[in-house]
This record gives sequence, structure tokens and C-alpha cells, in this order.
Amino acid sequence: MKLIDTHCHINTIIKKNFDTPLPDNFIELAQPIIQQAHSAGVTKIINVGTSLPESLNCVQLAKAFSKCYATLGIHPNDVKSGWQEELETFKKLLEDSSNKIVGIGEIGLDYHYPDFNKNLQYDAFKGQIELALEYNLPIVIHTRDAQQEVLDVLEQYKGNKLRGIIHCFSEDQAFADRAIALNFVLGIGGTLTYPKNKILRTLFGSIALESVVLETDAPFLPPQIIRGKPNSPAQIKTIAEFLAALRNQPIAAIAEQTTKNAEKLFGI
Ligand SMILES: [Zn+2]
Repeated sequence: MKLIDTHCHINTIIKKNFDTPLPDNFIELAQPIIQQAHSAGVTKIINVGTSLPESLNCVQLAKAFSKCYATLGIHPNDVKSGWQEELETFKKLLEDSSNKIVGIGEIGLDYHYPDFNKNLQYDAFKGQIELALEYNLPIVIHTRDAQQEVLDVLEQYKGNKLRGIIHCFSEDQAFADRAIALNFVLGIGGTLTYPKNKILRTLFGSIALESVVLETDAPFLPPQIIRGKPNSPAQIKTIAEFLAALRNQPIAAIAEQTTKNAEKLFGI
């Protein structure tokens, strides 16, 4: 059985502070996490960038570990003025294939916190979508309290070969249908197992598996059975098992299709 964690932050698992470089002994720290994931059948891990420094860390991990890949992106809550210059640095990184960059993300809109800057988020989201299109890469979308606004942006690029993942899918069936029609797949992880998320379970219980990829978002969002503890990419197996039971399908079928979806989307 082969599984893929399409959304992980090993960089954040192995250090305390955000937006700082990886520690010198990062290989030593990341090795057991990747090994444990491998033992659970997780053969590929995509570390997703949230800022310029964290994107650089994702690239460093991708270069050090054959099982790791990187995405570059500025998270909507991390966008600062001057983001355009950070995109220039991204372009330099994208020119070197040894960096194993397979997507742009996480990018999007997050209107949850009261101090957000809507215009800045909007401009950076569009700028990064255009970067993805320039390099023909999929995007990883973070959206929170901004459903309609995100769909409106994606609609603007309809027919432009734009494709990607709605990360940590937590919207409704209508949003899912529109996202899928726009060439997106839905990323699902620990939140599926939380008791309150009945609507998600109904949705993922019946949706076509061709539109689903698995993700942990580790160290965040641990599945219910380890709630309160840090998450890790090995937990993809827990998510796959949960989804198999929910859909009354063998776990092998879940693994096969979701892995195929991720490999196709990211070209890995
Ligand atoms: Zn994330």
C-alpha cells in the first residue's frame, strides 16, 4: 500500500518558531518522522510553504530527502507588503529542478481574523495563481470564511489550465461541486474524524474518489484518536482507514486512487 501526504509541514514539526531557518541538525530531526511515515505506508510527503522562509525550508527538506517534495507560497495570513519581491525569489528557486518544487501554496483568502487586509490577500492570491500558471504548477488553496470570494477568483482563471487542491476541505457540497468543476480536488485529513464534522463525513462518504487527496497538515489538526498530541505524516494511514470505513471500501482502494490523484496532480 502506497499513501501520499499531500500537505505537511515537517519544517514546523522540527522547530518551535515560525519563519526561522531549519536547525543545523534538521536531517537528524526529520529522519525519524519520515521513517515512521514510511513504515505506515506513506511513501511521498509534500511540505507546503506558508512564507518565504518556510518555503525555503520546504525546499531544503526536499533536497535532503528523496521522499519529500516542496511547494512555495505565502499564506494569506502571512502576506506582507513587498510580497512581489518574495515572488521574484520564488521564480529563482523554480528555475532549478533540483529544488523539487511541485506546486504553489498554500495561498488563498482567510477572512477569519479581524485584522486581515483583504486587498493585500487578494492581490497576493492572484499574483501567486499567475506564478503557478507561468510555471504550469498546481496550487494549494487555503480558504477560511471566504468561500465565495475564493470561487470568484478561481472563476476568473477558468479555462487557463489552473488546477489544484482545496486544502483542509471544510465547506459544503455546493462549494465542492463548483471547485471540482474548476479542476480542483479536495484535500481531507484529521478534521474528517472530529465528532462535530458530520456534514464532512456525509460529503466524503459519497464523493467520487477521483476528487479526493489525503493530507495531515501536521503538526496541526491531529486525527481524533491522537487529539491534543502533535500530528505527523504517518497519520495519513489513520485518515485512509477512517475513509475506508466511512465509504465501506477496502483501504487498498482508497490508497490506490488517492495516491494516483496526487501523483497526477503534482507530477510526482
Ligand atoms: Zn497547512
